[in-house]
Amino acid sequence: RTLEVALGDRSYPIVVGSGLYADLPRWLQQRHITPAHSLLVVTDSSVAPHYGKRVLTPLESAGYQVRMSVVPAGEASKSLDQLSRLVEDAIRFGMDRDSVVLALGGGVIGDLAGFLAAVYMRGIRFVQLPTTLLAHDSSVGGKTGVNHPLGKNMIGAFHQPELVLFDVDTLATLPGRELVSGFAEVIKHALIADTDFAMWLEQHHETLMRRDPSLLTEAIVRGCAIKAQVVARDERESGLRAILNYGHTIGHALEAATGYRRWTHGEAVAIGMVGEAILGELLGTARDVSGFTRRLLALYGLPVTLDEPLSDEELLTLMRRDKKARQGEYVFVLPKGIGTVEVKKGVEERVIREALRRLKEE
Ligand code: NAD
Ligand code: ZN
Repeated sequence: RTLEVALGDRSYPIVVGSGLYADLPRWLQQRHITPAHSLLVVTDSSVAPHYGKRVLTPLESAGYQVRMSVVPAGEASKSLDQLSRLVEDAIRFGMDRDSVVLALGGGVIGDLAGFLAAVYMRGIRFVQLPTTLLAHDSSVGGKTGVNHPLGKNMIGAFHQPELVLFDVDTLATLPGRELVSGFAEVIKHALIADTDFAMWLEQHHETLMRRDPSLLTEAIVRGCAIKAQVVARDERESGLRAILNYGHTIGHALEAATGYRRWTHGEAVAIGMVGEAILGELLGTARDVSGFTRRLLALYGLPVTLDEPLSDEELLTLMRRDKKARQGEYVFVLPKGIGTVEVKKGVEERVIREALRRLKEE
C-alpha cells in the first residue's frame, strides 16, 4: 500500500506492507538511489540483530556499497555525542554528498539518523525504515533532531526523507508495551481527523492487538494518511500542524513531571487526550467525547486516569512551557467531536484545574 506526502518537489512516498525489505533495492531505485550511491544504515542494538541482515543482504546483492552503524537502544542515544560518533563513522566510511542514510528503527533512530542526514555535509538524502508502531507517526513529516541535557528535542532541523518504507513484519518482535504506546498515536490520528477510523479501531482492537499484519497495515496507512495530509498543508507548523499535538500539552507535562520514567510517551499522551477531552467538555467545545475516548484507549490497554500524585502547580508550570504556548498562555488542542479538534489559546487556569481533578477520577 502506497500513499504520498505532497510537498511539491520534495514529495515522497510512504509504503506500508509485509515482506518489503526484499524489494528495498527496487524502491530505492524508484527514488533515484542507485548502486552508484553509498549507503549508511543507522540502527540500534535491539533492532540490528533482528533486521540488520534482512536489510543489508538484498542491498548488497543488488550491488550497493552499504555500511552499518549501531547505537545503543534507548532515548539516551538521541544525543549530540551519538551524532558526533555517527559523523565520525560516515567520514571513515567515505560517505559523500551523494550518499544516503537509512534509518532502521523506531523514533529514536529516525530522529537521530534524520538529523545526521540533515547536517552531514550540509545535508544528504535519507530513507526511513520504521520498526515501531509509534514510528508511523515520527517517520513522516521531516522533524529530526536530538535531545539536550536541559530539554527534549532542543536541537533539530526539518529534513524530509526520500521515502518511508514500513515493513509491518518488524512489529512481530516489538515489546508489548511499545506496541501499546504506538496505538496511542494511531488513536490520536483517528480522534483528530477521522470518525470512521475511530469506529474501525474500536471494532478491530482484538485483531490489531494480535498484530495481524493486514490489519496493522490498514491502521498504519490510515494513520500516516492523516499525518501526511496535515504536514502537506503546514510543513513548518505555522498553524494547522499543531493539531497533531492533541493530548500532548498534558502528556508532555506528565512525562516531564515524572522524569520520563513512569509512562511511555504513548501512555502519557493517552492520559493527556482524556484530560483534554474533559477540558473540551468543560469549555463547551465538545459534548460527550471523554467517555468514548476513555473506552477506546482502554481497549488497547492504555491508561486513562491520572493515578500519580502530581501537584497541579507543577503540571501547570510545565504546560505553560509547552512549545505551542506563547507569553505564558495555556494552549490546548481540544476536541469538537470524535474526529475533529480545534486549537484553543488562553485557556483559564481554573478550568484546567477542574479537568485535572476529573482526570484523577475513575
Ligand atoms: P524507540 O526508537 O526507542 O524504540 C522503542 C524500543 O523498541 C527501543 O528499545 C528499540 O530498540 C526497540 N525496538 C524498535 N523496533 C523494534 C522491533 N521491531 N523489535 C524489537 N524491538 C524494537 O522509541 P519510539 O517509541 O519508536 O520513538 C520515540 C522517539 O520518537 C522519541 O524520541 C520521540 O521524541 C520521537 N518522536 C519523534 C516525532 C517526530 O515527528 N520526529 C514524533 C513522535 C515521536
Ligand atoms: Zn507524540
